Amino acid sequence: MSQTAKIINIQTKSGEFWDKSIETLPRRHLEDLQLGLLREHLDFAARNSAFYAHTFRIGGIAAGDLKSLNDLGRFPFINKQTLRERQTALPLLGDIAAVHERDVVYVAASSGSTGVPTLSPFTAADFEAWQDIQARLFYQAGMRAHDRYLHALNFSLFVGGPDVIGAQKLGALSIWAGTVPAEKLLFLAREFQPTVTWTTPSYAWHLGETARSLGIDPARDLAIRRIIVAGEPGGSIPATRQAIEALWNAELFDFYGLSDIFGACAGMCSARNGLHIAEDHLLVEVLDPATGEPVADGEKGEMVLTTLQKQARPMIRFRTGDIITRDSSPCSCGRTHARIWIHGRTDDMFIVNGVNIFPSDVEVAVRNIPEITGEYRITLTRENRLTRFQLEIERRDGEGISDGAVSERVKSLLRNRHGISPHSVKVLAEGDLPRAVHKAKRVVDLR
Ligand SMILES: [Zn+2]
Repeated sequence: MSQTAKIINIQTKSGEFWDKSIETLPRRHLEDLQLGLLREHLDFAARNSAFYAHTFRIGGIAAGDLKSLNDLGRFPFINKQTLRERQTALPLLGDIAAVHERDVVYVAASSGSTGVPTLSPFTAADFEAWQDIQARLFYQAGMRAHDRYLHALNFSLFVGGPDVIGAQKLGALSIWAGTVPAEKLLFLAREFQPTVTWTTPSYAWHLGETARSLGIDPARDLAIRRIIVAGEPGGSIPATRQAIEALWNAELFDFYGLSDIFGACAGMCSARNGLHIAEDHLLVEVLDPATGEPVADGEKGEMVLTTLQKQARPMIRFRTGDIITRDSSPCSCGRTHARIWIHGRTDDMFIVNGVNIFPSDVEVAVRNIPEITGEYRITLTRENRLTRFQLEIERRDGEGISDGAVSERVKSLLRNRHGISPHSVKVLAEGDLPRAVHKAKRVVDLR
């Protein structure tokens, strides 16, 4: 093994799987594996985390009580607020942490609305396991050692930054671009001809449009044929996906992650029907957000995640706020780990006339109208204690359709699909709405 290979632990693989024995483990054996890991993990948490020692004692529960995976339902939830409170109570890492700070080698941070970043700690073993998951997800999305990978995620505190190491782990030539302006990223894409990139769906779209405005045809002049997206629901919205794929002549692979656990922990395979979640590292519960009771496969519910191996900060029943559906049946690709579909966040959901609406519902409508750019902004206001929903969209340059006709089409699409329509639609000129280098801000809540 060369010195370089030792330092970043490159593993050269062939075939369809990164880790076939784990990825195709029959469901029954996978659940046995999860139960064993969960028992050990709960015991580890109770012995090493002051927070879990306390909450388990108060609840009169112990790792030994876990006879089946369903028994996890007896343990209490935690959420983002818990993380914030416990960190404030005992800086730096909070008392949910189960290792001493000297064993932590990396922290990601999410800014949060309060302005105090919540830290997400990793031990060396956690970091190594995380990058193995990244490599698995990249491999599953078709990346191979011969690829050139343009990593266009934020490196500043963002958990997506180090994911580039997962690409190196499978041997891809990796370009650490970060979130740079579109012109700079296009320069890199043209000069170095990368074959795979990762960004947000809105930025993938913006980048392609910018290329065209500079006289570069992404489908012809650039070599990017796989685009990984995450951070927004667009990658799983067919109309958004097809629009980006046509613009780039590339295949889109949606990934999902959360800074409190891993950069990415789920991603699409070649079947591109749902995102396989790494169930050897995470136990997934899908619960009715109001009652906390489990919902059946195929029904929408809030995803609650429990780590199975993470040492620095075990997460037991973490309410992600993400509304998903799950399918635990085997996939046509041969993988047995459950697939998830993300519909939106409970925080982003708003209620108009008694109907639950996600920004992704609005996106489905605006991406289906060719005369508009697909950019949009929702503004929520309150009037007589009711939510009013205003929508801004952009008409494409050179389209002959009138503003009134465009706004009527958006309204009728939303009305037909969801039974509601915006109280007003403002039609702007192409380029009037802000473009995001990171995640697009689609909802302005003035209530
Ligand atoms: Zn699959």
